[in-house]
Parts: sequence; structure tokens; C-alpha cells
Amino acid sequence: MSKRLEAEVWALDNCSGCGLCVAVCSKQVLKWNGKNHPSLEKPVKTIGYTRQVLDTCSFCNQFCEEVCPRLDNVVPSDPEFILGAKANGPTKSGTPNAVITAILAAGRYAGLIDGVLTSDFDPWMLRPAANVASTVEEIANNIGLQYIWAPTLDKLNDAVFVWKKRDLAVVGTPCTAQAIQRLRNSTESRLKPYRDAIRLVVSVFCTGIYKPELIEQEVVGKLGIPRNEIRGIEISSDQDGFVVRLWDGGERVLPRQQAETYTLPGCGSCDDFLGSSADIAVGNLGTPHDSSTLLVYTAMGDIFRRNAQRIGLIETFEEVDRQALKQAQGEKSRRERAQAFKVNRLLMLDALADPLKRGEAIQQFARLYRTPVNSEPQTPVRNKCSGC
Ligand code: SF4
Ligand code: SF4
Ligand code: SF4
Repeated sequence: MSKRLEAEVWALDNCSGCGLCVAVCSKQVLKWNGKNHPSLEKPVKTIGYTRQVLDTCSFCNQFCEEVCPRLDNVVPSDPEFILGAKANGPTKSGTPNAVITAILAAGRYAGLIDGVLTSDFDPWMLRPAANVASTVEEIANNIGLQYIWAPTLDKLNDAVFVWKKRDLAVVGTPCTAQAIQRLRNSTESRLKPYRDAIRLVVSVFCTGIYKPELIEQEVVGKLGIPRNEIRGIEISSDQDGFVVRLWDGGERVLPRQQAETYTLPGCGSCDDFLGSSADIAVGNLGTPHDSSTLLVYTAMGDIFRRNAQRIGLIETFEEVDRQALKQAQGEKSRRERAQAFKVNRLLMLDALADPLKRGEAIQQFARLYRTPVNSEPQTPVRNKCSGC
């Protein structure tokens, strides 16, 4: 059964929305139906005059639980290289999407990958949509929006089983990378086709992802931009807002503050800002605004980084504000602890009538109070904050 998902992830609003459980479900009974997490749809079969709910999960190896990043503590790794980077090809730009696009286009050109699974903005539906880009041109045009939620991994089955991709790159948020790390660590033989097909995982830095309703309600509703004038939406280079690009070449900005109520609830308990389960992570913190920070976590990530440099699609430099990265990571740990308090409060309520459970809940609170969030001494960092 997906019982652990229901009890330990969905009921606690802890789902990150990564969607890997939906992709690997052997009976295809996990669906997105407008909630903050997938849900189990139980098929009903008519037998004679009776209708029976089919038990889909009893004879399954619980692939969904095997890959869910919220059911296991994914061990974060330290980056092997911390670099500043700019895309240097036809489009010279330092935005994270441009750097990621350059690395992947170079990888495709060199035959290191045969496709990229990512999400891009669909201007007709006004929402992000999952995509598999196969050619260098498609990759250059398709690495789009990463901060508005889309079920990107829904296309994993098509990519692996329909389009027979064997060397895929996946671009997503740190929780997507955590889910794929669990997949890579799994020894479940039925998950092998997915493991074998994913060659590279690229993550963006992430403090939270927003529900797609944001576009309809805030951009169309409150900013008053007609739907047919919106060409695309991207995060601003200072990450303080969304830039809405219009078909007539103009642009409008939606302040990020206005978007906060649309954050997925599961982001509140997230502890990974820097995509430490990915092969490569890119974001615009710690480097000047005309460039991005590139974290290379694995040998595979480094092959792609060096390949892009060799082809001349990115240039890198070494001056990165490491303290700013460390501090941002610490902020997220604090958020995770706040969420853990919420969960423990629920445990405590549940334990009121049971002395044994109460003892365990008290111990958990004590452990949480003792957990140092960031044991390093904090030195003030001048990065956007003026220190006033
Ligand atoms: S237990 Fe198996 S069939 Fe049930 S939701 Fe999970 S993967 Fe799907
Ligand atoms: S975190 Fe991902 S794998 Fe876990 S329940 Fe949510 S969508 Fe499924
Ligand atoms: S904040 Fe965490 S859970 Fe939310 S999208 Fe980013 S990585 Fe995923």
C-alpha cells in the first residue's frame, strides 16, 4: 500500500511535489488531482451485480515508498567544485537557466546525453508543462520555468519507455534530485530501467516552489494582464520577483512577496537549498548578478562542466561568496526545524492519552531543542542585506 505516503507524507503536508512516486507506480493508480500531493485512485470493477474496489497495492513492491525523498533522510554531499559561471554561446547570459542550457546543449552536442527532461512554460495553457527536449535546438529553447510547480517527472515514463531515451538529463528542484538519488540507491530490479536511463541530474537552488494558480490569480487577476498577452514568465535575476514577458516585447514584474501564499506546503519542511543530491546545481546566490554559482557534486557533473567549457559554451571563475551559500543553507535548516516542531506537536496531541507515546514525543522535542542549526559562528554577510 501507499500507506506510508498517506500517513507520513501527505497527512503531514510534507509532500514536495517531486512526482517520482506517480512515475514509478506499477499500477498507475497515483494521480495528481488538484491537491498538494498525489492521491491513490482505487479502481472499481463491476462483477455481475456488484461493484468491487480493487486492491491495487497489496501485491506491489511499494515502488512509491522506495523513491519518496520524504521517507528517508537523503544524505547531502559537499560540492567538489564551487565556481562562478556564465553562458558564453550564442546567448551570453549569467542566469541559472542560461548556464544550465549551455551545459546541456554542449552535452547533447558531444553525445553525452540523448534528451533532457524538464519543464517549460506553455503560453496557451498559462502553466508550466513537462517536456522532453531531444535536439540541441530543442534544449536551447526549452529549459524554462523551474519555480512554478509542474509534474515534470510525469514524462519520465514516456521518455524511457516510449521514446527509448537511454542517457537522459533531468532538470528540476533539489527535491527532484533527492528523489532520483533514492531511485539510484535502490536495489529494486523493477526500477532498473529508470536508473539506467538517467545519466545526469541538474538542480536549481530553491527556497520554495509556487502553485500554478499563481499565474491565473495574481498575474491575470491582480496585475490585470490579459491571458493572450503573456508570452512567458521567469524568475528575476535578483530572485525578488517574477518577470512576466509579453508578446509585444514589454514586461511586468510580480513581486515575490505577492506569490508567497502560493508556496507548496511541503516546501516548509525542506532542508536542501543547494541541490546537494544532484550532479550539478546552479543558482544566482554568491556571485554577481550577471553570473550564476555552479556547484559540481559528482564526477559525472564534472564531465559535463568540462565538456561545456571545452566547447566554449560556458566560462567559469573561482570567486564565489561561500559564506552566503552556507548562510542560505542554514536558513533552510531552520525552516525544517520549525516544521519538525509542528509535526511533534501533532505527535504530542496524539500521545496525550498514552504515557509511552508521550515519553517518546517529549524525547523528540528535547532532541530538537538540542539540535544546533548551524554550529559555525555566524559572521555578517553582505549579500543583498545591507547589514543596517
Ligand atoms: S504500492 Fe504500488 S500500486 Fe500502490 S501506489 Fe505504491 S507503487 Fe502504486
Ligand atoms: S514527495 Fe514526491 S515521491 Fe513523495 S509523495 Fe510527494 S510526490 Fe510522491
Ligand atoms: S523548497 Fe524544497 S520541497 Fe520545495 S520545491 Fe524547493 S526543493 Fe522542493
